[in-house]
Amino acid sequence: MTSIDEPPPAIDDAVSFADLGLRPELLGVLAGLGYEEPTPIQREAIPQLIEGRDLLGQAATGTGKTAAFALPLLQRLTAGSRPKHPTALVLVPTRELAVQVSEAVHRYGRDLGARVLPIYGGQPIGRQLAALDRGVDVVVATPGRALDHMGRGTLPLDRLEVVVLDEADEMLDMGFAEDIEAILSSTPPGRQTVLFSATMPARIDGIARRHLRNPVRIHMGRSQVDAGQAPLVRQVAYVVPRAFKMATLGRILDVESPTAALVFCRTRDEVDQIAGTLNGRGYRAEALHGGMTQEQRDRVMGRLRAGTADLLIATDVAARGLDVEHLTHVVNYEVPSAPDSYVHRIGRVGRAGREGVAITLVEPREHRMLKTIERVTRQRITVEKVPTVADLRSRRLELTRAALEESILEDELEGFRVVVESLADKFDVMLVALAAVKLAHEASGVVADDDEIPQITAGTDRPARPAGAARPPRPARGPSAGMTKLFVGAGRSAGIRPQDIVGAIAGETRLGGRDIGAIEIADRFTLVEVPEAAADEVVAALKASTVKGKKATIRRAHEDR
Ligand code: AMP
Repeated sequence: MTSIDEPPPAIDDAVSFADLGLRPELLGVLAGLGYEEPTPIQREAIPQLIEGRDLLGQAATGTGKTAAFALPLLQRLTAGSRPKHPTALVLVPTRELAVQVSEAVHRYGRDLGARVLPIYGGQPIGRQLAALDRGVDVVVATPGRALDHMGRGTLPLDRLEVVVLDEADEMLDMGFAEDIEAILSSTPPGRQTVLFSATMPARIDGIARRHLRNPVRIHMGRSQVDAGQAPLVRQVAYVVPRAFKMATLGRILDVESPTAALVFCRTRDEVDQIAGTLNGRGYRAEALHGGMTQEQRDRVMGRLRAGTADLLIATDVAARGLDVEHLTHVVNYEVPSAPDSYVHRIGRVGRAGREGVAITLVEPREHRMLKTIERVTRQRITVEKVPTVADLRSRRLELTRAALEESILEDELEGFRVVVESLADKFDVMLVALAAVKLAHEASGVVADDDEIPQITAGTDRPARPAGAARPPRPARGPSAGMTKLFVGAGRSAGIRPQDIVGAIAGETRLGGRDIGAIEIADRFTLVEVPEAAADEVVAALKASTVKGKKATIRRAHEDR
């Protein structure tokens, strides 16, 4: 078992994407995307996959696992004319992931002219058929829809060289085990098989034993960081959807008001973009990344040391070896790609007994990575609520109050007495004080920030119920507000479990597990609540698909039930 939690390499022995043996068309795209170096999982997996080995990888979202499997499969595509039938099939649990992964493969394969097709339910099958008929290189599919196409003879697998199972544990939790077995059994025996899973329950091991040949095993977060190696600083995380990350960063910095902070990002583009936005918000932010000359970097560091800049926005590569004395905060704008990198980053604050704060922004789908980091560092990261507009206002008032208190203690106020005395003839002294506080507050350069940021609890991106756990039965009654009950003509006697229903719906429509309401499983049928607005889509999608591999009647449930 390979463990990939070794300390990050020093600059001169850092591994580059070129060292991994990737072809120039891929290297060019990666440079264009601002990726500076492979993540640990990419460092381990890519050379082995290029060699043709099967792979069993335990890695969560946020580690860079998508590129780890996508780049090697793109590496196989020949330049010029290619077979019409797909070379690679990637199976994913949800429609959302199918879109995301196919966008990523498309992005990485741009200079190779890779033809990528996402296949999932809820999309007119005609469009998928036309694309398959024109020819595709990589198909990214949910298992149900892939089987559907195989049944129709529209997804030819005879030229398949690679099969990837992404988020395999999630696919099993959604009831896709039989579908996956059926698909794998229909692929050429000589194919390469890659399996990524955030957890490794026994059922995953079973699939690996049956379908992978002597796989390389990669395990993220296996080793433990020595106690004491992770610094004792206040560690907090905020769970925020991607679209609100920038607003959240601004809000947190305003509330924390750091003396000097280092903000880590994944790519060069992000560094530039965030530095620009924060400057617009009134911060003195400097960008630092590997695309800058030594002279430019020295200038930036000089400004930070001299205190003429208070925020440094950097990639890991650029920040390596960097020593800033007075840092009070480290912010991970992106979850680091390995626990070790987290420890390394936050080790820059809290030095020499000084207080420090480490803040991590986590996208809902990356919550598992946070758990891995906690386990490896054996330290707790407290998930906090994103400060609200009201929190920010009270924090700003607090800062103004502190500034006024400081001014009182400085005792250089005599020159202003005449102003207060003359106003006190006309107004109450309290009113005079209030007006002075208002002016001081406004003069502190307050930026308008009135947008509320949605509050998310960690881990809620996954289906609301623990997979496999049946929802407690509810008494039969009308649907909840905004929900519609659907009738599915298969129930307990057909072996239907709640996760089969969740899997069928989440795999074929834009709904996630969280959107699905009560599920009542009777002997011969099932009633499931879905949002009214999506009811027709769910009916259409499930009509065109299967539940647990079988066709089932589906319609709106009768009102009188
Ligand atoms: P994943 O774990 O595959 O969901 O990837 C997480 C994120 O990291 C995605 O937004 C990728 O675009 C990004 N990413 C993947 N590899 C790298 C890399 N080597 N450098 C910078 N960003 C990366």
